[in-house]
Amino acid sequence: TVRTRFAPSPTGVLHLGSIRTALFCWLYARHTGGEYLVRIEDTDRERSTDENVTAIFEGLSWLGITSDKEPVYQTRRFDRYREVIAQWLDNGKAYHCYCSRERLAAVREEQMAAGLKTRYDGRCRDGAEPVDGVNPVVRFRNPTDGDVLVEDLVRGEVVFSNRELDDLIICRSDGTPTYNFTVVVDDADMGISHVIRGDDHLNNTPRQMNMFAALGVTPPGFAHLPMILGPDGAKLSKRHGAVDIRDYQQQGYLPAALLNYLVRLGWSHADQEIFSVEEMIELFDIANVNQSASAFNPEKLRWLNQQHIKAMPADELGTLLRPFLERAGLAVDSGPEPSAVADAYRERAETLVELAASCQYLYNDFAEIDPKAAKKNLRPVVLEPLLDVRERLAALPEWRAKELMEAIEASAAAFELNMGKLGQPLRVAVTGNGVSPPIDITLELIGRERSLQRLDRALE
Ligand code: GLU
Repeated sequence: TVRTRFAPSPTGVLHLGSIRTALFCWLYARHTGGEYLVRIEDTDRERSTDENVTAIFEGLSWLGITSDKEPVYQTRRFDRYREVIAQWLDNGKAYHCYCSRERLAAVREEQMAAGLKTRYDGRCRDGAEPVDGVNPVVRFRNPTDGDVLVEDLVRGEVVFSNRELDDLIICRSDGTPTYNFTVVVDDADMGISHVIRGDDHLNNTPRQMNMFAALGVTPPGFAHLPMILGPDGAKLSKRHGAVDIRDYQQQGYLPAALLNYLVRLGWSHADQEIFSVEEMIELFDIANVNQSASAFNPEKLRWLNQQHIKAMPADELGTLLRPFLERAGLAVDSGPEPSAVADAYRERAETLVELAASCQYLYNDFAEIDPKAAKKNLRPVVLEPLLDVRERLAALPEWRAKELMEAIEASAAAFELNMGKLGQPLRVAVTGNGVSPPIDITLELIGRERSLQRLDRALE
């Protein structure tokens, strides 16, 4: 069965590229009925922080990409790493190396001067004399000849020659294990069937495959995902917008829209652009992952966000909207239900922040009517029809869109005005500006008392 893992290093927050990796791992597991696991690669104790771990889990949980098991932390597995290192020292798959920094630097310089690729020269490979006062490193005994064939599920066959790979340090002199080694022990112990990760790791793969062989474990399948570039073709970074995934949450993006955006960075299904999460799970396959890098396009993300805002069931959208209304300082409990507001205002909003900004007058009173809108719409000619409509509205037994519309239509007919000629002044009077959903719905949401008060004020 399929078992994937997302293995972030908490040396930074969760960014778009890492989320895309997590998403593909998660989708592949969901698509195949397998499992998706999370492993926190926190062995770099100096650069790993608890804040970053929190940021990673918050981001993933906001997006609904959650692990099927308790997350694994590498720092809790040192005993296991030590055990494997001891075994390998014992059976000759690894060896102690006492070479000093100075010696290694000198070797490197010589190789560079000779125009050679720099690599460890293997001096301690066949037995080294312990050096007093020196804690040795442990190196993996990499095969010296033959090829390593990586049958990458995205890239196809990639061949590496063992002659190009030197004997990797798997344990530093201070006793801490290194990345390429811990990954292999973990992937083997966790029973990972598919390693899906950024293609910056492709060059690590042959080394890791040799270590799987040393463990006597069949290596997992590998899928290396193409890079995400900024709109300018450079590696995606801070310059291109928000880095922390939580910033997108703050800016009012929907989880489903962000996932939809990210799934299309490197994966496609015919020319379909809009996918629900269910559709992604149904359709996603590693076989359809592209080989070429894709570019981050913030406008497309906004557009997709708008599409998802339009399509989301009103109650769900209302739940997502509520905190944005609160953050905008609106008295949510003294106004209409966020779900009704979301439904009425969603057409024009690209983000939840915009949605919340467009409906302020439903919850809070405004200081004055926008002078421009007032000058244009509240002219003496409409005063009488507005007074008339005010009386009709006030007399309504039910403050509902349908009855509200009938009342406005009756006034318009009485004064031989077309609906727009009356609806727009009415809108300006009750909203303070000239933009809102259809006037009947707007009035219903504002409510009877507020609407009539505002009308009275405009007619003073
Ligand atoms: N911890 C590694 C990283 O954040 C990922 C390692 C892997 O997926 O094998 O780049």
